[in-house]
Amino acid sequence: MHVTGTAAEIKPINCNHYINGKYVESFSGETFLNINPATKEVLGTVQVGGKEEVDLAVKAARKALKGEWGSMPTKKRSQILRKIGDLILERLPELAALETLDTGKPLWLSKSVDIDRAANNFHFFADYMTAIGNESYQQDDIAIHYSVRKPVGVVGLINPWNLPLLLLTWKLAPALAAGNTVVMKPSEITPMTATVLAQICTDAGVPEGVVNLVHGMGETGAAITSHEDVDAIAFTGETVTGSTIMKAAAPTLKKLSFELGGKNPNVIFADADLKETIETTLKSSFINQGEVCLCGSRIYVERPIYDEFLERFASKAKEMKVGDPFDPDTKVGAMVSEEHYNKVVSYLDIAKEEGGNFLVGGNTLYEDKGYYIEPTIITGLGKNSRCVREEIFGPVVTVIPFDSEEEVLEQVNDTHYGLSASVWTSNVKRAVRFSAQIEAGMVWVNTWFLRDLRTPFGGMKHSGLGREGGAHSMDFYTELTNVTLKL
Ligand code: NDP
Repeated sequence: MHVTGTAAEIKPINCNHYINGKYVESFSGETFLNINPATKEVLGTVQVGGKEEVDLAVKAARKALKGEWGSMPTKKRSQILRKIGDLILERLPELAALETLDTGKPLWLSKSVDIDRAANNFHFFADYMTAIGNESYQQDDIAIHYSVRKPVGVVGLINPWNLPLLLLTWKLAPALAAGNTVVMKPSEITPMTATVLAQICTDAGVPEGVVNLVHGMGETGAAITSHEDVDAIAFTGETVTGSTIMKAAAPTLKKLSFELGGKNPNVIFADADLKETIETTLKSSFINQGEVCLCGSRIYVERPIYDEFLERFASKAKEMKVGDPFDPDTKVGAMVSEEHYNKVVSYLDIAKEEGGNFLVGGNTLYEDKGYYIEPTIITGLGKNSRCVREEIFGPVVTVIPFDSEEEVLEQVNDTHYGLSASVWTSNVKRAVRFSAQIEAGMVWVNTWFLRDLRTPFGGMKHSGLGREGGAHSMDFYTELTNVTLKL
Protein backbone atom coordinates (compact mmCIF):
# COMPACT_ATOMS: atom_id res chain seq x y z
CA MET A 1 0.00 0.00 0.00
CA HIS A 2 1.13 3.51 -0.77
CA VAL A 3 0.09 5.93 1.97
CA THR A 4 -0.04 9.51 0.75
CA GLY A 5 -0.69 10.49 4.36
CA THR A 6 -1.85 13.99 3.63
CA ALA A 7 -3.78 16.00 1.11
CA ALA A 8 -0.95 17.92 -0.53
CA GLU A 9 -2.23 21.41 0.22
CA ILE A 10 -3.31 20.84 3.84
CA LYS A 11 -0.68 21.05 6.55
CA PRO A 12 -1.33 19.59 10.00
CA ILE A 13 -1.33 22.11 12.85
CA ASN A 14 0.10 22.33 16.34
CA CYS A 15 -2.71 22.49 18.88
CA ASN A 16 -2.73 25.27 21.46
CA HIS A 17 -5.46 25.99 24.00
CA TYR A 18 -7.99 28.71 23.12
CA ILE A 19 -8.83 30.82 26.16
CA ASN A 20 -10.63 34.16 26.21
CA GLY A 21 -10.42 34.56 22.44
CA LYS A 22 -6.71 33.75 22.05
CA TYR A 23 -4.52 30.74 21.36
CA VAL A 24 -2.24 30.17 24.35
CA GLU A 25 0.32 27.63 25.52
CA SER A 26 0.35 25.79 28.85
CA PHE A 27 2.06 27.40 31.85
CA SER A 28 4.13 24.25 32.24
CA GLY A 29 5.25 24.26 28.61
CA GLU A 30 4.32 20.57 28.53
CA THR A 31 3.21 19.13 25.20
CA PHE A 32 2.67 15.70 23.67
CA LEU A 33 2.94 14.47 20.09
CA ASN A 34 -0.05 14.02 17.83
CA ILE A 35 0.39 10.92 15.66
CA ASN A 36 -1.15 10.12 12.26
CA PRO A 37 -2.50 6.56 12.70
CA ALA A 38 -2.37 5.94 8.93
CA THR A 39 1.41 6.50 8.75
CA LYS A 40 2.68 6.58 12.36
CA GLU A 41 4.18 9.99 11.49
CA VAL A 42 4.15 12.93 13.87
CA LEU A 43 1.54 15.50 12.91
CA GLY A 44 2.47 18.10 15.49
CA THR A 45 2.37 18.96 19.15
CA VAL A 46 -0.54 19.34 21.54
CA GLN A 47 -0.51 21.43 24.72
CA VAL A 48 -1.25 19.66 28.00
CA GLY A 49 -3.68 21.67 30.07
CA GLY A 50 -3.98 21.22 33.81
CA LYS A 51 -5.94 22.78 36.65
CA GLU A 52 -4.47 26.24 35.99
CA GLU A 53 -5.47 26.38 32.32
CA VAL A 54 -8.91 24.95 33.07
CA ASP A 55 -9.38 27.53 35.81
CA LEU A 56 -8.46 30.37 33.43
CA ALA A 57 -10.88 29.01 30.84
CA VAL A 58 -13.70 28.69 33.39
CA LYS A 59 -13.08 32.25 34.65
CA ALA A 60 -13.18 33.57 31.07
CA ALA A 61 -16.41 31.64 30.43
CA ARG A 62 -18.00 32.89 33.67
CA LYS A 63 -17.12 36.51 32.85
CA ALA A 64 -18.45 36.18 29.28
CA LEU A 65 -21.83 34.97 30.57
CA LYS A 66 -22.46 38.41 31.99
CA GLY A 67 -21.13 40.43 29.07
CA GLU A 68 -22.31 41.07 25.52
CA TRP A 69 -23.25 37.39 25.10
CA GLY A 70 -25.62 37.43 28.06
CA SER A 71 -27.66 40.33 26.70
CA MET A 72 -27.46 39.48 23.00
CA PRO A 73 -30.86 39.32 21.25
CA THR A 74 -31.86 35.81 20.16
CA LYS A 75 -31.94 36.85 16.51
CA LYS A 76 -28.32 37.99 16.59
CA ARG A 77 -27.16 34.86 18.41
CA SER A 78 -28.96 32.76 15.83
CA GLN A 79 -27.22 34.66 13.01
CA ILE A 80 -23.86 33.94 14.64
CA LEU A 81 -24.66 30.23 14.85
CA ARG A 82 -25.64 30.21 11.19
CA LYS A 83 -22.38 31.97 10.33
CA ILE A 84 -20.35 29.33 12.22
CA GLY A 85 -22.06 26.67 10.09
CA ASP A 86 -21.31 28.67 6.91
CA LEU A 87 -17.64 29.08 7.84
CA ILE A 88 -17.31 25.35 8.57
CA LEU A 89 -18.64 24.64 5.06
CA GLU A 90 -16.27 27.25 3.56
CA ARG A 91 -13.36 25.51 5.24
CA LEU A 92 -14.67 21.98 4.59
CA PRO A 93 -11.67 20.73 2.53
CA GLU A 94 -9.20 21.84 5.22
CA LEU A 95 -11.27 20.55 8.15
CA ALA A 96 -11.94 17.22 6.41
CA ALA A 97 -8.24 16.69 5.72
CA LEU A 98 -7.32 17.52 9.33
CA GLU A 99 -10.01 15.11 10.59
CA THR A 100 -8.68 12.35 8.35
CA LEU A 101 -5.08 12.98 9.42
CA ASP A 102 -6.10 12.78 13.08
CA THR A 103 -8.44 9.79 12.90
CA GLY A 104 -7.29 7.67 9.92
CA LYS A 105 -10.84 7.64 8.51
CA PRO A 106 -11.38 7.94 4.72
CA LEU A 107 -11.34 11.53 3.45
CA TRP A 108 -14.65 11.08 1.58
CA LEU A 109 -16.25 10.16 4.93
CA SER A 110 -14.78 13.17 6.74
CA LYS A 111 -16.17 15.39 4.00
CA SER A 112 -19.61 13.87 3.56
CA VAL A 113 -20.38 13.01 7.18
CA ASP A 114 -18.09 14.55 9.81
CA ILE A 115 -17.67 18.09 8.54
CA ASP A 116 -20.89 18.43 6.59
CA ARG A 117 -22.94 17.31 9.59
CA ALA A 118 -20.91 19.55 11.91
CA ALA A 119 -22.03 22.55 9.84
CA ASN A 120 -25.57 21.21 9.83
CA ASN A 121 -25.58 21.05 13.64
CA PHE A 122 -25.11 24.85 13.72
CA HIS A 123 -27.60 25.51 10.92
CA PHE A 124 -30.21 23.32 12.63
CA PHE A 125 -29.90 24.95 16.07
CA ALA A 126 -29.72 28.46 14.53
CA ASP A 127 -33.26 27.82 13.29
CA TYR A 128 -34.48 25.73 16.20
CA MET A 129 -33.57 28.31 18.86
CA THR A 130 -35.81 30.92 17.25
CA ALA A 131 -38.78 28.55 16.98
CA ILE A 132 -39.24 27.23 20.50
CA GLY A 133 -41.60 28.65 23.09
CA ASN A 134 -42.13 28.13 26.80
CA GLU A 135 -44.97 26.69 28.85
CA SER A 136 -47.73 28.88 30.20
CA TYR A 137 -50.96 28.00 32.04
CA GLN A 138 -54.00 30.06 32.84
CA GLN A 139 -55.45 28.92 36.18
CA ASP A 140 -59.05 30.17 35.86
CA ASP A 141 -59.16 33.75 37.10
CA ILE A 142 -56.74 33.00 39.91
CA ALA A 143 -53.32 33.19 38.25
CA ILE A 144 -51.22 32.88 35.11
CA HIS A 145 -48.13 30.68 35.32
CA TYR A 146 -45.36 30.99 32.75
CA SER A 147 -41.81 29.80 32.51
CA VAL A 148 -38.68 31.74 31.66
CA ARG A 149 -35.78 29.90 30.02
CA LYS A 150 -32.22 30.78 31.02
CA PRO A 151 -28.80 29.35 30.15
CA VAL A 152 -27.40 26.80 32.62
CA GLY A 153 -24.16 28.80 32.82
CA VAL A 154 -20.66 27.49 32.15
CA VAL A 155 -20.80 24.08 30.46
CA GLY A 156 -17.95 21.58 30.08
CA LEU A 157 -18.03 19.70 26.77
CA ILE A 158 -15.88 16.55 26.80
CA ASN A 159 -15.55 14.55 23.60
CA PRO A 160 -14.23 11.29 22.14
CA TRP A 161 -12.07 10.63 19.09
CA ASN A 162 -14.33 8.75 16.69
CA LEU A 163 -16.36 11.64 15.22
CA PRO A 164 -14.41 14.55 16.70
CA LEU A 165 -15.95 17.66 15.12
CA LEU A 166 -19.37 16.13 14.54
CA LEU A 167 -19.86 15.18 18.19
CA LEU A 168 -18.30 18.36 19.55
CA THR A 169 -20.62 20.56 17.48
CA TRP A 170 -23.60 18.37 18.44
CA LYS A 171 -23.04 19.78 21.94
CA LEU A 172 -21.56 23.20 21.18
CA ALA A 173 -24.35 24.35 18.84
CA PRO A 174 -27.23 23.87 21.33
CA ALA A 175 -25.09 25.08 24.23
CA LEU A 176 -24.51 28.38 22.40
CA ALA A 177 -28.09 28.50 21.09
CA ALA A 178 -29.25 28.47 24.72
CA GLY A 179 -26.84 31.29 25.65
CA ASN A 180 -24.27 29.32 27.65
CA THR A 181 -20.52 29.72 27.64
CA VAL A 182 -18.30 26.66 27.34
CA VAL A 183 -15.01 24.97 28.08
CA MET A 184 -14.36 22.21 25.54
CA LYS A 185 -11.94 19.31 25.75
CA PRO A 186 -11.47 17.19 22.64
CA SER A 187 -9.87 13.75 22.83
CA GLU A 188 -6.11 13.89 23.13
CA ILE A 189 -5.95 11.66 20.02
CA THR A 190 -7.93 13.98 17.73
CA PRO A 191 -7.30 17.61 18.73
CA MET A 192 -6.98 19.44 15.40
CA THR A 193 -10.49 20.26 14.15
CA ALA A 194 -11.59 21.53 17.58
CA THR A 195 -8.58 23.88 17.54
CA VAL A 196 -9.69 25.36 14.20
CA LEU A 197 -13.33 25.51 15.33
CA ALA A 198 -12.44 27.82 18.23
CA GLN A 199 -11.12 30.43 15.78
CA ILE A 200 -14.10 29.92 13.47
CA CYS A 201 -16.42 30.81 16.37
CA THR A 202 -14.55 34.07 16.93
CA ASP A 203 -14.56 34.81 13.19
CA ALA A 204 -18.33 34.30 13.15
CA GLY A 205 -18.80 36.92 15.88
CA VAL A 206 -18.82 34.91 19.12
CA PRO A 207 -17.50 37.29 21.81
CA GLU A 208 -14.24 36.43 23.57
CA GLY A 209 -14.49 34.05 26.51
CA VAL A 210 -17.69 32.39 25.29
CA VAL A 211 -15.94 29.44 23.63
CA ASN A 212 -12.82 28.14 25.36
CA LEU A 213 -10.76 25.06 24.56
CA VAL A 214 -8.30 23.23 26.77
CA HIS A 215 -6.29 20.32 25.41
CA GLY A 216 -4.91 17.41 27.35
CA MET A 217 -5.55 13.91 28.60
CA GLY A 218 -8.09 12.50 31.03
CA GLU A 219 -6.66 14.65 33.87
CA THR A 220 -7.63 17.76 31.93
CA GLY A 221 -11.16 16.45 31.61
CA ALA A 222 -11.13 15.64 35.31
CA ALA A 223 -10.13 19.25 36.11
CA ILE A 224 -13.24 20.39 34.22
CA THR A 225 -15.63 17.87 35.77
CA SER A 226 -14.50 18.66 39.32
CA HIS A 227 -14.32 22.46 38.90
CA GLU A 228 -16.70 24.12 41.34
CA ASP A 229 -17.68 26.88 38.91
CA VAL A 230 -18.74 24.61 36.05
CA ASP A 231 -22.51 24.17 36.06
CA ALA A 232 -23.04 21.26 33.67
CA ILE A 233 -21.10 18.57 31.83
CA ALA A 234 -22.03 17.11 28.45
CA PHE A 235 -19.87 14.06 27.85
CA THR A 236 -19.55 11.50 25.07
CA GLY A 237 -17.21 8.58 25.59
CA GLU A 238 -16.79 5.26 27.29
CA THR A 239 -19.23 4.02 29.91
CA VAL A 240 -16.48 3.66 32.52
CA THR A 241 -15.40 7.29 31.99
CA GLY A 242 -19.02 8.38 32.41
CA SER A 243 -19.11 6.67 35.76
CA THR A 244 -15.87 8.42 36.83
CA ILE A 245 -17.26 11.79 35.73
CA MET A 246 -20.47 11.21 37.65
CA LYS A 247 -18.46 10.72 40.86
CA ALA A 248 -16.27 13.78 40.16
CA ALA A 249 -19.32 15.95 39.48
CA ALA A 250 -21.26 14.77 42.53
CA PRO A 251 -19.81 17.14 45.17
CA THR A 252 -20.87 20.19 43.12
CA LEU A 253 -24.13 18.61 41.83
CA LYS A 254 -23.53 19.42 38.19
CA LYS A 255 -26.19 18.79 35.59
CA LEU A 256 -25.04 15.83 33.45
CA SER A 257 -25.69 14.55 29.94
CA PHE A 258 -23.92 11.34 28.90
CA GLU A 259 -23.69 9.57 25.55
CA LEU A 260 -21.82 6.35 26.32
CA GLY A 261 -20.82 3.03 24.81
CA GLY A 262 -22.96 0.47 23.03
CA LYS A 263 -23.10 -3.11 21.76
CA ASN A 264 -25.88 -2.67 19.30
CA PRO A 265 -27.91 -5.56 17.85
CA ASN A 266 -28.91 -5.82 14.21
CA VAL A 267 -31.85 -8.24 13.86
CA ILE A 268 -32.60 -9.58 10.39
CA PHE A 269 -35.86 -11.51 9.88
CA ALA A 270 -36.33 -13.90 6.97
CA ASP A 271 -38.84 -11.61 5.25
CA ALA A 272 -36.40 -8.67 5.00
CA ASP A 273 -35.36 -7.19 1.67
CA LEU A 274 -31.98 -8.90 1.65
CA LYS A 275 -30.26 -6.69 -0.92
CA GLU A 276 -31.02 -3.51 1.02
CA THR A 277 -30.32 -5.22 4.33
CA ILE A 278 -26.86 -6.30 3.22
CA GLU A 279 -25.95 -2.92 1.71
CA THR A 280 -26.87 -1.11 4.92
CA THR A 281 -25.44 -3.78 7.20
CA LEU A 282 -22.05 -3.36 5.51
CA LYS A 283 -22.19 0.30 6.55
CA SER A 284 -23.49 -0.34 10.05
CA SER A 285 -20.69 -2.91 10.54
CA PHE A 286 -17.63 -1.32 8.96
CA ILE A 287 -18.09 2.39 8.28
CA ASN A 288 -15.53 4.56 10.06
CA GLN A 289 -13.60 1.30 10.78
CA GLY A 290 -16.50 0.25 13.02
CA GLU A 291 -15.62 3.15 15.32
CA VAL A 292 -19.15 4.54 15.60
CA CYS A 293 -21.09 4.18 18.82
CA LEU A 294 -24.17 3.26 16.74
CA CYS A 295 -22.52 0.48 14.72
CA GLY A 296 -24.45 -2.80 14.82
CA SER A 297 -21.81 -5.25 15.96
CA ARG A 298 -24.10 -8.13 17.04
CA ILE A 299 -25.91 -9.44 13.97
CA TYR A 300 -28.77 -11.92 14.49
CA VAL A 301 -30.18 -13.61 11.37
CA GLU A 302 -33.32 -15.76 11.20
CA ARG A 303 -32.34 -19.36 10.36
CA PRO A 304 -34.07 -19.75 6.93
CA ILE A 305 -31.88 -16.99 5.40
CA TYR A 306 -28.78 -17.44 7.59
CA ASP A 307 -26.63 -19.20 4.95
CA GLU A 308 -27.65 -16.94 2.09
CA PHE A 309 -27.11 -13.83 4.19
CA LEU A 310 -23.67 -14.97 5.27
CA GLU A 311 -22.56 -15.81 1.75
CA ARG A 312 -23.70 -12.49 0.26
CA PHE A 313 -22.59 -10.38 3.23
CA ALA A 314 -19.15 -12.02 3.28
CA SER A 315 -18.58 -11.62 -0.43
CA LYS A 316 -19.36 -7.87 -0.23
CA ALA A 317 -17.19 -7.41 2.87
CA LYS A 318 -14.23 -9.00 1.05
CA GLU A 319 -14.55 -6.36 -1.68
CA MET A 320 -14.06 -3.47 0.77
CA LYS A 321 -10.73 -1.79 0.17
CA VAL A 322 -8.67 -1.20 3.31
CA GLY A 323 -5.87 1.33 3.17
CA ASP A 324 -4.80 4.93 2.55
CA PRO A 325 -7.52 7.22 3.94
CA PHE A 326 -6.76 9.77 1.20
CA ASP A 327 -7.46 7.26 -1.59
CA PRO A 328 -11.06 7.83 -2.80
CA ASP A 329 -11.55 4.07 -3.28
CA THR A 330 -10.71 3.25 0.34
CA LYS A 331 -13.69 2.02 2.32
CA VAL A 332 -11.91 1.22 5.60
CA GLY A 333 -9.04 3.42 6.80
CA ALA A 334 -6.72 3.12 9.80
CA MET A 335 -7.75 2.52 13.40
CA VAL A 336 -7.50 5.74 15.40
CA SER A 337 -4.43 4.94 17.50
CA GLU A 338 -1.94 2.25 18.44
CA GLU A 339 -3.69 1.75 21.79
CA HIS A 340 -7.10 1.25 20.22
CA TYR A 341 -5.66 -0.98 17.46
CA ASN A 342 -4.13 -3.20 20.16
CA LYS A 343 -7.48 -3.37 21.94
CA VAL A 344 -9.31 -4.46 18.79
CA VAL A 345 -6.55 -6.97 17.92
CA SER A 346 -6.88 -8.43 21.42
CA TYR A 347 -10.54 -9.22 20.62
CA LEU A 348 -9.45 -11.08 17.47
CA ASP A 349 -7.31 -13.24 19.76
CA ILE A 350 -10.21 -13.68 22.19
CA ALA A 351 -12.45 -14.78 19.31
CA LYS A 352 -9.90 -17.45 18.35
CA GLU A 353 -9.66 -18.66 21.96
CA GLU A 354 -13.46 -18.78 22.18
CA GLY A 355 -13.64 -21.01 19.08
CA GLY A 356 -14.94 -18.38 16.65
CA ASN A 357 -14.76 -18.92 12.91
CA PHE A 358 -13.37 -16.01 10.85
CA LEU A 359 -15.64 -16.06 7.82
CA VAL A 360 -13.91 -12.91 6.55
CA GLY A 361 -10.87 -11.00 7.83
CA GLY A 362 -9.31 -11.43 11.24
CA ASN A 363 -5.97 -9.98 10.15
CA THR A 364 -4.00 -6.80 10.57
CA LEU A 365 -2.56 -5.15 7.44
CA TYR A 366 0.39 -2.89 6.50
CA GLU A 367 1.85 -3.08 10.05
CA ASP A 368 4.94 -1.12 9.02
CA LYS A 369 2.79 1.79 7.79
CA GLY A 370 -0.03 2.18 10.30
CA TYR A 371 -2.86 0.63 12.27
CA TYR A 372 -5.03 -1.29 9.81
CA ILE A 373 -7.47 -4.14 10.47
CA GLU A 374 -9.49 -6.03 7.86
CA PRO A 375 -13.30 -6.03 8.03
CA THR A 376 -13.95 -9.13 10.10
CA ILE A 377 -17.04 -11.36 10.29
CA ILE A 378 -17.05 -13.98 13.04
CA THR A 379 -19.50 -16.88 13.31
CA GLY A 380 -19.77 -19.80 15.69
CA LEU A 381 -19.67 -17.78 18.92
CA GLY A 382 -22.21 -18.30 21.69
CA LYS A 383 -24.22 -15.62 23.47
CA ASN A 384 -21.79 -15.54 26.41
CA SER A 385 -18.72 -14.94 24.28
CA ARG A 386 -16.83 -11.77 25.23
CA CYS A 387 -16.83 -10.75 21.56
CA VAL A 388 -20.64 -10.85 21.60
CA ARG A 389 -21.00 -9.05 24.93
CA GLU A 390 -18.25 -6.41 25.04
CA GLU A 391 -17.86 -3.23 22.98
CA ILE A 392 -15.00 -3.84 20.51
CA PHE A 393 -15.43 -0.56 18.59
CA GLY A 394 -13.65 -1.83 15.48
CA PRO A 395 -14.46 -3.44 12.11
CA VAL A 396 -15.46 -6.68 13.80
CA VAL A 397 -18.97 -8.19 13.87
CA THR A 398 -20.40 -11.46 15.11
CA VAL A 399 -23.28 -13.24 13.33
CA ILE A 400 -25.60 -15.61 15.20
CA PRO A 401 -28.68 -17.47 13.82
CA PHE A 402 -32.05 -17.44 15.59
CA ASP A 403 -35.31 -19.39 15.31
CA SER A 404 -37.97 -17.25 16.98
CA GLU A 405 -38.82 -13.66 17.84
CA GLU A 406 -38.89 -14.49 21.58
CA GLU A 407 -35.46 -16.13 21.49
CA VAL A 408 -33.79 -13.25 19.65
CA LEU A 409 -35.46 -10.60 21.80
CA GLU A 410 -34.05 -12.26 24.90
CA GLN A 411 -30.53 -12.11 23.40
CA VAL A 412 -30.96 -8.55 22.13
CA ASN A 413 -31.81 -7.29 25.62
CA ASP A 414 -29.30 -9.46 27.48
CA THR A 415 -26.75 -6.65 27.87
CA HIS A 416 -25.89 -3.71 30.12
CA TYR A 417 -25.88 -1.49 27.05
CA GLY A 418 -28.95 0.12 25.50
CA LEU A 419 -27.91 2.58 22.83
CA SER A 420 -29.43 1.56 19.48
CA ALA A 421 -30.71 -1.36 17.40
CA SER A 422 -31.71 -2.12 13.82
CA VAL A 423 -34.58 -4.39 12.83
CA TRP A 424 -35.03 -5.70 9.29
CA THR A 425 -38.47 -7.08 8.32
CA SER A 426 -41.22 -6.42 5.80
CA ASN A 427 -43.90 -7.26 8.39
CA VAL A 428 -45.10 -3.92 9.78
CA LYS A 429 -46.91 -5.43 12.76
CA ARG A 430 -43.79 -7.31 13.79
CA ALA A 431 -41.65 -4.20 13.27
CA VAL A 432 -43.84 -2.19 15.64
CA ARG A 433 -44.22 -5.00 18.20
CA PHE A 434 -40.55 -5.96 18.24
CA SER A 435 -39.10 -2.41 18.27
CA ALA A 436 -41.22 -1.46 21.25
CA GLN A 437 -39.70 -4.28 23.31
CA ILE A 438 -36.06 -3.47 22.57
CA GLU A 439 -34.27 -1.88 25.52
CA ALA A 440 -32.44 0.82 23.55
CA GLY A 441 -32.72 4.59 23.13
CA MET A 442 -32.95 4.38 19.33
CA VAL A 443 -34.34 1.69 17.04
CA TRP A 444 -34.12 1.83 13.25
CA VAL A 445 -36.50 -0.28 11.16
CA ASN A 446 -35.20 -1.20 7.68
CA THR A 447 -32.48 1.46 7.89
CA TRP A 448 -29.56 2.67 10.00
CA PHE A 449 -28.07 6.07 11.00
CA LEU A 450 -30.99 7.95 9.48
CA ARG A 451 -31.26 11.05 11.65
CA ASP A 452 -33.61 13.97 12.12
CA LEU A 453 -32.05 16.37 14.60
CA ARG A 454 -35.40 17.02 16.30
CA THR A 455 -35.63 13.42 17.54
CA PRO A 456 -34.36 12.20 20.94
CA PHE A 457 -30.81 10.86 20.65
CA GLY A 458 -29.21 8.86 23.44
CA GLY A 459 -29.01 5.56 25.24
CA MET A 460 -30.60 3.78 28.20
CA LYS A 461 -29.03 1.40 30.76
CA HIS A 462 -25.22 1.83 30.67
CA SER A 463 -25.31 3.66 27.32
CA GLY A 464 -26.25 7.08 28.51
CA LEU A 465 -28.00 9.56 30.69
CA GLY A 466 -30.61 11.88 29.20
CA ARG A 467 -31.28 12.63 25.55
CA GLU A 468 -29.92 15.17 23.09
CA GLY A 469 -31.51 16.59 19.95
CA GLY A 470 -34.09 19.36 19.38
CA ALA A 471 -36.11 20.14 22.50
CA HIS A 472 -34.08 17.59 24.54
CA SER A 473 -30.87 19.53 23.94
CA MET A 474 -32.53 22.83 24.73
CA ASP A 475 -33.89 21.36 27.98
CA PHE A 476 -30.44 20.19 29.02
CA TYR A 477 -28.67 23.45 28.20
CA THR A 478 -31.27 25.65 29.94
CA GLU A 479 -32.84 26.14 33.34
CA LEU A 480 -36.48 27.11 33.75
CA THR A 481 -37.89 29.60 36.21
CA ASN A 482 -41.63 29.36 36.67
CA VAL A 483 -43.34 32.71 37.40
CA THR A 484 -46.79 32.75 38.97
CA LEU A 485 -48.74 35.95 38.44
CA LYS A 486 -51.74 36.26 40.76
CA LEU A 487 -54.70 37.85 39.04
P1 NDP B 1 -13.13 8.02 26.57
O1 NDP B 1 -14.19 7.88 27.59
O2 NDP B 1 -11.85 7.31 26.77
O3 NDP B 1 -12.74 9.55 26.37
C1 NDP B 1 -13.70 10.55 26.05
C2 NDP B 1 -13.18 11.89 26.55
O4 NDP B 1 -13.17 11.90 27.97
C3 NDP B 1 -11.76 12.20 26.10
O5 NDP B 1 -11.68 13.58 25.79
C4 NDP B 1 -10.97 11.82 27.32
O6 NDP B 1 -9.72 12.42 27.39
C5 NDP B 1 -11.89 12.31 28.42
N1 NDP B 1 -11.63 11.73 29.73
C6 NDP B 1 -10.97 10.59 30.03
N2 NDP B 1 -10.94 10.39 31.37
C7 NDP B 1 -11.61 11.42 31.93
C8 NDP B 1 -11.93 11.79 33.27
N3 NDP B 1 -11.57 11.05 34.31
N4 NDP B 1 -12.63 12.92 33.47
C9 NDP B 1 -13.04 13.67 32.43
N5 NDP B 1 -12.75 13.39 31.14
C10 NDP B 1 -12.06 12.27 30.89
O7 NDP B 1 -13.80 7.60 25.18
P2 NDP B 1 -13.06 7.42 23.79
O8 NDP B 1 -12.43 8.71 23.39
O9 NDP B 1 -12.24 6.17 23.86
O10 NDP B 1 -14.30 7.21 22.80
C11 NDP B 1 -14.85 5.96 22.47
C12 NDP B 1 -16.09 5.70 23.31
O11 NDP B 1 -17.08 6.70 23.06
C13 NDP B 1 -16.77 4.39 22.97
O12 NDP B 1 -17.11 3.71 24.14
C14 NDP B 1 -18.05 4.81 22.25
O13 NDP B 1 -19.07 3.89 22.33
C15 NDP B 1 -18.35 6.10 22.92
N6 NDP B 1 -19.20 6.92 22.07
C16 NDP B 1 -20.52 7.07 22.38
C17 NDP B 1 -21.36 7.79 21.56
C18 NDP B 1 -22.81 7.96 21.91
O14 NDP B 1 -23.46 8.82 21.33
N7 NDP B 1 -23.37 7.20 22.83
C19 NDP B 1 -20.88 8.41 20.33
C20 NDP B 1 -19.47 8.20 20.11
C21 NDP B 1 -18.67 7.48 20.95
P3 NDP B 1 -8.45 11.73 26.69
O15 NDP B 1 -8.95 10.62 25.81
O16 NDP B 1 -7.85 12.81 25.93
O17 NDP B 1 -7.63 11.22 27.81
